[in-house]
Amino acid sequence: MGESFDVVIIGSGLGGLLCGGILGKNGYKVAVLEKNPQIGGCLQSYTRDGGLFDTGVHYIGGLEKGQTLYKIFSYLGLMERIRIKRFDTEGFDVIKFGDSGKEYIYAQTYEKFIDTLAQSFPDEREGIENYCRSVKQLCDRFPLYNLRNGDFMDKMDMLDMNAREMINSFVKDPLLQNVLAGNNCLYAGSGEKSPFYIHALILNSYIESVWRCEGGGSQIATALADVIAETGGKVIRRAEVTRIIINEGFATKVLTKDKREFAGKQFISDIHPAATIALTQSDVFRKAYVKRITNLENTISVFILNVVFRDASFPRINKNVYYYSKAENIWSGTDYKMEDWPENFALFVTDGKDGFAHSASVMCYMNYSEFEPWADTNNTVYQPGERGPGYNELKEEKALKIFKLVENQYPGFRAAVESYHTLSPLTYRDYTGTPNGSLYGIQRDCNEPLKTFVPARTKIPNLLFTGQNLNLHGVMGVAVSSIITCGELLGIDYLLEKIRND
Ligand SMILES: Cc1cc2nc3c(=O)[nH]c(=O)nc-3n(C[C@H](O)[C@H](O)[C@H](O)COP(=O)(O)OP(=O)(O)OC[C@H]3O[C@@H](n4cnc5c(N)ncnc54)[C@H](O)[C@@H]3O)c2cc1C
Repeated sequence: MGESFDVVIIGSGLGGLLCGGILGKNGYKVAVLEKNPQIGGCLQSYTRDGGLFDTGVHYIGGLEKGQTLYKIFSYLGLMERIRIKRFDTEGFDVIKFGDSGKEYIYAQTYEKFIDTLAQSFPDEREGIENYCRSVKQLCDRFPLYNLRNGDFMDKMDMLDMNAREMINSFVKDPLLQNVLAGNNCLYAGSGEKSPFYIHALILNSYIESVWRCEGGGSQIATALADVIAETGGKVIRRAEVTRIIINEGFATKVLTKDKREFAGKQFISDIHPAATIALTQSDVFRKAYVKRITNLENTISVFILNVVFRDASFPRINKNVYYYSKAENIWSGTDYKMEDWPENFALFVTDGKDGFAHSASVMCYMNYSEFEPWADTNNTVYQPGERGPGYNELKEEKALKIFKLVENQYPGFRAAVESYHTLSPLTYRDYTGTPNGSLYGIQRDCNEPLKTFVPARTKIPNLLFTGQNLNLHGVMGVAVSSIITCGELLGIDYLLEKIRND
């Protein structure tokens, strides 16, 4: 007979930990079970060759006093526990195009965002203003993003708006249209599928205020684990859930790979809904539902080159860089041809001393299939090892291609690198537990918005979903998901009131 809890949470990603913190603070005894030795999922950070690298979260929006994420984090006492630094208000992202050699800056606050872009596109000021107004209006109609309760049906008319079409409708210059879509790597932008609301909710949170975690995103996970412990709960590492036991239609306990049992009154899953359903091995779920959830498309995976620079060798870049070889291909990055890869990259640089950079991560989309030959191997970057013949060679081949592309844009980059290592789609699959190393979980599709919508409640009354697949990915999206999930147990109005007024 194992331990018993009020709430057993599967997965210690941001969603699982936030639910653990919120419910712990409200008197529930929670256990968060994590399969990996390190907690946090996409919030994990690790050091290698003196560099500190984030697995997922490179920057966060909405953390200024009074803003939504600030209020959620404050409610849990996180703002005093994490070290964050604001990006320069003059610019947080640079959108760079190889074909024209030009670059454009996104600045913080709507006023500066508009002014900065209007300097490059003076005839389009009105269009940029209208675009920003529309982004803000749309965000206002998503009540939970403003910590208000509301009816899901109120926003139905916005779910099928296509991001590319909407952005293009505000401004005439095709180059500016591409600039406005420039950081669509933040949601694995697809010209055909990406909904405008995803674009708007993400961009809005960054225009409001942009922050990086000094000391890595993992400090958010650590702080949340502390909150859970202080409320009498537990975060248990190396506890891979292999089965959710269902009895007379209710979840009763979970079993782990090492044969431990955790009983609970309520269960929350922070892992992919398809993986959760598989863990139940239950026929409670209708076949059509299982088929729908299992067949949902997931966002593409990623290949990352992480580098540590020699001291004082590469100048600091105080913005995130989104580079596209051809501006016109801004919406087709996920449909790359293998022979042309990589054409685009995102570059995140950390500060060193005296105006120089310390380390950097270069991120390029990659299909899981490229590394599928090694799919039956399991490894993680914090337990480096071999996946078998050819794996490291393929990673090296990819790294050299990335170096070449980055070097074209930043001459001297390669020579400044002291050491480097790479993460493949398999690393992501094993590190975060996402299907096929998917970047952001379920691919939202404006053509079938309800098909890609996953509610928190499941057919099993005491089993709830949370995390990036529920609502929206990213720190902000997952934080709102955790409110939706915990609201099912605590009452959404009660919880929102607490968060707003705490
Ligand atoms: C490369 C990359 C860059 C990103 N950049 C940003 C950014 O700059 N800003 C931003 O806001 N967002 C960013 N994101 C998105 C953001 O990190 C995620 O949306 C968010 O952290 C997901 O949290 P989650 O709780 O839903 O899931 P996850 O982080 O995926 O956590 C799920 C957890 O469940 C565990 N697990 C899986 N199966 C089991 C099991 N059977 N038993 C026990 N545990 C299990 C996993 O190990 C994992 O710890 C990025 C993501 C990636 C991948």
